[in-house]
Amino acid sequence: MTVTARPADVTAAVVDEIGPDAADLTAEGFRAGWRRLVRTPSVNAVMADSLRGETGNGLIENAVSVIEGIGRAGVPAGLTYAVASQIFGIQWPLSTLSKKPLAPYADAILDGSLILCHALTEETGGSDPLSMRTAAIRSDSGEYRLDGRKAYVTAAPEADVILTFARTDEARHPFALSSFLIPSDRAGVERSTPFDKVALTEVPMGAIDFDAVVATDADLVTTEGSGLAFLASTTTWERALLMSYALGGMAATIDRAVTWLRDREQFGRSLGANPLVAARVADLAIIRHRVRTLVYDMARRIDSQTTPMSALSTDAAQVKISCAQDLLQFETSAAPLFGARAVIADSGYAINTTSALAASIYAGTNDLLRVSIARELGLPVGN
Ligand SMILES: Cc1cc2nc3c(=O)[nH]c(=O)nc-3n(C[C@H](O)[C@H](O)[C@H](O)COP(=O)(O)OP(=O)(O)OC[C@H]3O[C@@H](n4cnc5c(N)ncnc54)[C@H](O)[C@@H]3O)c2cc1C
Repeated sequence: MTVTARPADVTAAVVDEIGPDAADLTAEGFRAGWRRLVRTPSVNAVMADSLRGETGNGLIENAVSVIEGIGRAGVPAGLTYAVASQIFGIQWPLSTLSKKPLAPYADAILDGSLILCHALTEETGGSDPLSMRTAAIRSDSGEYRLDGRKAYVTAAPEADVILTFARTDEARHPFALSSFLIPSDRAGVERSTPFDKVALTEVPMGAIDFDAVVATDADLVTTEGSGLAFLASTTTWERALLMSYALGGMAATIDRAVTWLRDREQFGRSLGANPLVAARVADLAIIRHRVRTLVYDMARRIDSQTTPMSALSTDAAQVKISCAQDLLQFETSAAPLFGARAVIADSGYAINTTSALAASIYAGTNDLLRVSIARELGLPVGN
């Protein structure tokens, strides 16, 4: 299939499909909002594309446009983030594998009844995956016994199937980890209640306990020992494209700022007639343009199929750091334009800088990604 529609047309179509009640999508809970969103035709088509794992012919660019459209429609940031994270950080990387581990779940994923999560982080080892304690020990019968606890995992309290990582070797080396896909109703799996978080509040975050969970070779995502390599794939996908979640919201904020500053009068004239104020709005547009350009460029490069995903990891890290910094700058620049309303939850002008701040932490913290980039440049630097 070749996707030929222009991103702006795709985005506009998604806004129409989702409709005027986009902002209320999570009013009946995360799962209800998720189901409704996934059943929206454009979103559903992207879910199907991601489950085929194909790239090229504009498929990734189209997916980014659809995510932009979700944000542009006014869907809450947490739900938009969750969908982008599942599509780019879980579904696409899993579906590019020859094993097709998501195939048994495809129908349920497409009807919006099955939610996935990417469970890597632990209380004791967030930035350092090789220090993880969750272990999958193989018994004489060939089965694994999985024990450990993952924490701070997006969508964990609702997840039906868990992509997780465990050590299958005690030593600290690149082949010590393996990745598994585990249904959350399997004996010994327990999902926590949602953490009370202050960023991206419309998607629950939580912990997952594995207590003597039995896993087999069929649950292995790839071969034993290739967990770190697969993690490099999920994180490259995520760093390249996840920030698409913020594009639509940024555009909506700019629209809101223009309307507000035109109508609001201070010192006997429209606030927007003040060059200093107007220039700040221009800065918002410049920041959004930069983020949009970077994310769409990654999408087009993936679609071009000229560079393998593994060779895009440093560029993806740079894009993620840059977009995270820009998003924070955007929110902190936008907030003062709305005066006190920026901190009033139901004012229609509330700005959540904490969600922007979170972007420098998830998908690899910005500082640790900087270290990887510097190492790639040839500096003798380790973590
Ligand atoms: C909104 C959100 C969603 C998330 N979703 C998921 C998810 O779906 N799945 C999942 O597994 N995890 C998820 N996380 C967790 C995230 O991946 C971790 O928080 C992150 O990896 C950092 O781990 P940590 O919190 O343990 O911080 P730590 O590892 O304790 O690090 C704390 C700080 O120290 C810095 N630091 C650590 N070591 C070094 C070093 N050697 N040199 C310089 N600086 C260093 C880090 O950069 C960081 O700034 C999410 C986090 C957020 C905020």
